[in-house]
Amino acid sequence: MNSESDLYFMRLALEQARLAARAGEVPVGAVVVKDGHVIAVGRNAPVAAHDPTAHAEIAALRQAARVLGNYRLDGCELFVTLEPCAMCSGAVLHARLDRVVYGAIEPRTGAAGSVVNLFENSQLNHQTRLVGGVLAQECADVLRHFFQQKRDTQALERKAAHPLRDDALRTPDACFAELPGYRWPPHYVSDLPALQGLRMHYLDVGPQEASLTYLCLHGNPAWSYVYRKMIPVFAQAGCRVVAPDLIGFGKSDKPKRESAHSFSWHRDVLLQLIERLDLQRVVLVVQDWGGLLGLTLPMAVPQRFAGLVVMNTALATGDVPLSPGFLAWREMCAKNPDFDIARLMARGNPQLSQQECAAYMAPFPDKGHRAATRVFPPMVPDHPQADGAALSQQARHFWQYDWHGRSMMAVGMPDPVLGWDTMQALRKVIRNCPEPLQLLDAGHFVQEQGESIAQSAVDVFQGL
Ligand SMILES: [Zn+2]
Repeated sequence: MNSESDLYFMRLALEQARLAARAGEVPVGAVVVKDGHVIAVGRNAPVAAHDPTAHAEIAALRQAARVLGNYRLDGCELFVTLEPCAMCSGAVLHARLDRVVYGAIEPRTGAAGSVVNLFENSQLNHQTRLVGGVLAQECADVLRHFFQQKRDTQALERKAAHPLRDDALRTPDACFAELPGYRWPPHYVSDLPALQGLRMHYLDVGPQEASLTYLCLHGNPAWSYVYRKMIPVFAQAGCRVVAPDLIGFGKSDKPKRESAHSFSWHRDVLLQLIERLDLQRVVLVVQDWGGLLGLTLPMAVPQRFAGLVVMNTALATGDVPLSPGFLAWREMCAKNPDFDIARLMARGNPQLSQQECAAYMAPFPDKGHRAATRVFPPMVPDHPQADGAALSQQARHFWQYDWHGRSMMAVGMPDPVLGWDTMQALRKVIRNCPEPLQLLDAGHFVQEQGESIAQSAVDVFQGL
């Protein structure tokens, strides 16, 4: 049994240990007691003091010696939360203390029995008595908690740093400086299982507890920039907007190898992102590849989806031929794998400024960053065994028979790739899909005329 006074003084030493922890030092604390009174305190401080000898015991002994005006601390007792090391035990013996009381044992460096016992050596020590294990659990807990917290912080820092994989590229931030109309802060995730460390970027605008979340999925070769005109309208209506950049696009990491990409992998990433962000009451907003992939998502987690805004896209089921317009696009891409994206945007959207067209090119400073734009056109499922074809067929069934949400279709009419005919066919397989909005001035990248579409969507989905 420990005496009440031993417990009392050990608690004072523990207070010193906690102060050390707060200063970022390994939490060890000490007090020196003479005639029942604390005459000195000390806490571990080697980091701040740049001093390997700045142990709690040394600090307390130095202070006690100053108080007494004597390097000999006759009649004094040292209370310390951790078994003293060889240095401190040596100092204790030099100071001729009456008694040392410690808390937790220190199996790696303890010199009061754990590694060696300097107090037992009669050649070194004649008078210092030793008591161990006073409030041992509490003293050990302070240390354990400190190291656990340190590990947690380091893990968080590692996670926040999103180290770049050797087989991937990351577009420098400078490429994205001052893009017209795109002012939202980036959000990153790299610990979704499917990402295997690749860093995915997404926009997350508006309140997390909003009654509706617009999930905006872009296509090839666009990125979340394509939604810059729609996002403010949704946000203005009090909704949350989440707009990821598919891996290989925008501010997301870009695998060097084309073979890294597959339909089902991109779909898995999106599903895991939805789960991670716990998106509820989602209005799915899709165009181009955003629809090829996005239209296969709600059947996996139907309870999360409440609405659909579908713009020039398709379900690539592999059992109906792809449109002639798409085949022509695919051929163009095959012949010009590194086609000029800014020029493509300017051609289809004459109202865009030069800077806006350039913003579409921003994610791709060189050919090395373009694996995704090269591989996406041939990755569209075009036969029943193609990756994604069976999923798209299941999705067709889902939209036809199991979809209970509200839908809205907007068609950029002059789009030669996925225009009116394709969208008419798609409309037939979306249950209760009303007459589409027809945008006579919008091309393939319908979102460039997105303000009016977003405004209609806000009206359509009001009260959902
Ligand atoms: Zn020490």
